[in-house]
Amino acid sequence: MLSVQDLVVTYGRVEAVRGVSFDAQPGSLITLVGANGAGKSSVINAVSGIIRPRSGTILFEGQDITRWPAHKLVAQGLVQVPEGRQVLGTLTIHENLQLGGWHTGDSAAISEVYDRFPVLAERRELPAGALSGGEQQMLAIGRALVARPRLILLDEPSMGLAPKIVDEVFSVIQEIRASGTTVVLIEQNARRALRAADHGYVLASGEIAHQGPAAELLADDRVVQAYLGV
Ligand code: ATP
Repeated sequence: MLSVQDLVVTYGRVEAVRGVSFDAQPGSLITLVGANGAGKSSVINAVSGIIRPRSGTILFEGQDITRWPAHKLVAQGLVQVPEGRQVLGTLTIHENLQLGGWHTGDSAAISEVYDRFPVLAERRELPAGALSGGEQQMLAIGRALVARPRLILLDEPSMGLAPKIVDEVFSVIQEIRASGTTVVLIEQNARRALRAADHGYVLASGEIAHQGPAAELLADDRVVQAYLGV
């Protein structure tokens, strides 16, 4: 479904990502975890076309999509939920969802999002800025779902949310995966992300330090001590 090979991302002289390779099988949930600044966002921003990698190859459903612009990738079914949600606060909830389907005008997809998130349906005419942080995260996820992605990339969806809301976000992520969509999840909350994932990659200083089935990483003392805090 997704195969990233030898990805390098630089910002001027800063080498943020130094030869990262990983795969996501169709219908799986994989996670990239690691400390602040490890390079997680740079990796998925390169995959979703938000930034251009310096080198490396990105294959999506067998097609070489390296350096494709984000809008073309969205139309192909690869959609990112950005860090910090990035909902448009002065637009209504409904308008934010319409933006998710700008290329299809798929109003049935918006209805499905309302069915999944009744709180958004109730408030559809309110400005998105009036929602709580957790509700804005649901809106950001809903906006991505309107595009009917086959691959969804989530950048720190639990950031800044209360524990109960984090539970809700993780159950939505599991539902998305259960519906057959492949999920790539970026999280600083490594333990939580690994519990949810099939396969995990631990990034450190722009490189993959550990990888494996998520349950094995959770049971690996080196990973626990260095990245999960004991
Ligand atoms: P975070 O959790 O803070 O988002 P991250 O693991 O996602 O961290 P990145 O945001 O990918 O890490 O950052 C990796 C490295 O690249 C860091 O050293 C960061 O300072 C640097 N970096 C990121 N974006 C830029 C930029 N636009 N210009 C210069 N350096 C950048």
